[in-house]
Amino acid sequence: MNSNSVKMPVSQMKGIGPKISQSMKERGIITIDDLLYFLPLKYIDRRTIHRIADLKEGQRGNIIATVTSYRSLFFRHARKKGYEVIVGDKTGNLSLKWFQWSKSYLKMICKKGNILFLSGQVSRFGAAIQMIHPDVIVLEDEAESPDLKKILPLYSPMDGVKQGILRKLTEDALNLCGNDVKCIFPESVEEHFDLIPLPAAFRHIHCPEEDWYQEGPRHKYMERLILEEYMLFQSALWMNRTEYKREKGIAFHQHGPLYKKFTGKLPFALTDAQKRVVREIENDMISAEPMNRLVQGDVGSGKTICAVIASCLVIDSGYQVAFMAPTEILAEQHFLSVHRYFEALNIPVIFLRGNMGKNRKAVLDGIKSGNTSVIIGTHAIIQKDVTFHKLGLVVIDEQHRFGVLQRKWLIEKGLLPDVLMMTATPIPRTLSMVVYGDLDVSIIDEMPKGRQSIKTKLFLDDDKAKVYEMVEEEIKKGHQIYIVYPLVEESDKMELLNATKMASHFQKSVFARYRIGLLHGSMKAEEKEETMNRFKNKMIDILVCTTVIEVGIDVPNATMIVIEHAERFGLSQLHQLRGRVGRGTHASKCVLVTSSRRTALATKRLRIMEKTTDGFKIAEEDMLIRGVGDMLGTRQSGIPRFRVGDIIRDMDLMLRARNICTESLPRLTAENLKEIKDAIQDRWGETFHAHA
Ligand code: ADP
Ligand code: MG
Repeated sequence: MNSNSVKMPVSQMKGIGPKISQSMKERGIITIDDLLYFLPLKYIDRRTIHRIADLKEGQRGNIIATVTSYRSLFFRHARKKGYEVIVGDKTGNLSLKWFQWSKSYLKMICKKGNILFLSGQVSRFGAAIQMIHPDVIVLEDEAESPDLKKILPLYSPMDGVKQGILRKLTEDALNLCGNDVKCIFPESVEEHFDLIPLPAAFRHIHCPEEDWYQEGPRHKYMERLILEEYMLFQSALWMNRTEYKREKGIAFHQHGPLYKKFTGKLPFALTDAQKRVVREIENDMISAEPMNRLVQGDVGSGKTICAVIASCLVIDSGYQVAFMAPTEILAEQHFLSVHRYFEALNIPVIFLRGNMGKNRKAVLDGIKSGNTSVIIGTHAIIQKDVTFHKLGLVVIDEQHRFGVLQRKWLIEKGLLPDVLMMTATPIPRTLSMVVYGDLDVSIIDEMPKGRQSIKTKLFLDDDKAKVYEMVEEEIKKGHQIYIVYPLVEESDKMELLNATKMASHFQKSVFARYRIGLLHGSMKAEEKEETMNRFKNKMIDILVCTTVIEVGIDVPNATMIVIEHAERFGLSQLHQLRGRVGRGTHASKCVLVTSSRRTALATKRLRIMEKTTDGFKIAEEDMLIRGVGDMLGTRQSGIPRFRVGDIIRDMDLMLRARNICTESLPRLTAENLKEIKDAIQDRWGETFHAHA
């Protein structure tokens, strides 16, 4: 959509005053383009108008009739309320009935003498014929009659803007600039792929002349609009990807001394999946194109060692590697595991803390001079005052927490390292191509042998006593436990209430004999760290917490996790949480507690957790149940908002868009590409920072 007239604010259109413009704004309609994308919910076919006398039971009828009376109904046997409006034309009377209604809706209809257009299923009640919940349009005056015999779109109700006005304005908008609605690609591409021109698609959708919409909600015109926005999205990914590849990268040496030393005596045999992923990473690294790869693998699948092998190539080639995690706790965790591997190689590793005091200068000097090869910290390490000697690789853990990678920061510092991202959030494969379409993706879909199993069991609130008994048994074995509470309505205050209240409750009564710790998001970073350390050092038996423990925390002696209000979590999130246990040599348990009022659907969902520990399977189910946006958190995932498309329902169109893009984009002129790029910025500037 690159023409200016469609970008005109609707407030400048004739017939739109401040009131309508405000109502529209509340529905997200600012420009004419937005108005055109405010699509009808359904259509009413008024081309044939019936007479009441001719109506037959079971048929769909269209009637124009006058309101003669109305009254409320009460059906004693069914204990049900209803509302009835009687209308008539020259040939007879018809009863309209509602069993659910809004006051304002009925008020609009119930005026003696109102002329209504009605469309609905005809049924019989005793001797009389009736329509239940018909579609109604109040015909305002005679002026509407020339237009009467049309197919009318019905839009979602908008405060203070009647359907008739909305239709009129949309039609005006189409007449005004319908032809300026342009495909992001040049006409030649549209023709080559046999795409319906956008102006025609909009016209058919807003002013249909035939009842093509019988095809269902995903009719061909809708598909065209979905395809258009998917093409824009896929173009963005393609551009990210090609721009990235065009940069100069580093061709690392593959079989240097450190690499040989490390891979020659690994502490364990790599799984086949790890071997494959290491191969993919190495191939990227020895090539002169920069690497931009994401490794997806369940918690415990062994991603870290892949990154360590990659680091060997970096150090052998005389470069430095930076490991980054979203929080300081996680960075430290990383430090501990990475450190172990490098220690054996005699390579010093620096953990760059937020507050290092006097040491900081010496540490920074070490990084600047190149004496330090491995640096670990939060992503602040590329933002702040750190100067690298020769940064060759950045390893980013839990990429989805970073949002779209701020590669800009690196480039601003004159750094063009390879980038390796790692995430333990499995995403269904099809979706991963969409979400991470601008990255190369490697998947570790196999667990190292001999992993401790985690038994998952669902409990009702009423069985809490049993759960507490199990907790106590574990503690008696010398193990530790997590008890997790959800964030209630995303409000930090409520979060505090739950975890905090329960922690003190436990300490006072149920688990008075044991040591209880508390960890939640509103605590200061140092407090969190202190608590985590105490838990790690076995000074806490039960850690009561919120989802702050979700990612990457590694305490092998913790063998049980209890998740309260489990129904409030997404399956993928439960899976992440469950990954906190089963990390040591002891068999572990995950207990999901849910209230007895839970719905059948919630139970069904949670049972999936009992059945499988495969993160990809769980992600697939989660996606089907909750939809993509909820599952990933749209903001974090880098998936923009789509106006028409639904990622799951319209996955086929996403693939089609991707094919169109990969085939056409390389052939477009610089000017074409610039236009597309502007359109992306215009539409999703926020999501695609990386372009800036
Ligand atoms: P994650 O993918 O969650 O980051 P880690 O890399 O932390 O997993 O690995 C989890 C644990 O499994 C570590 O203690 C690691 O040493 C061990 N590990 C990794 N790969 C293997 C393997 N192939 N065989 C046995 N143990 C492994
Ligand atoms: Mg890890």
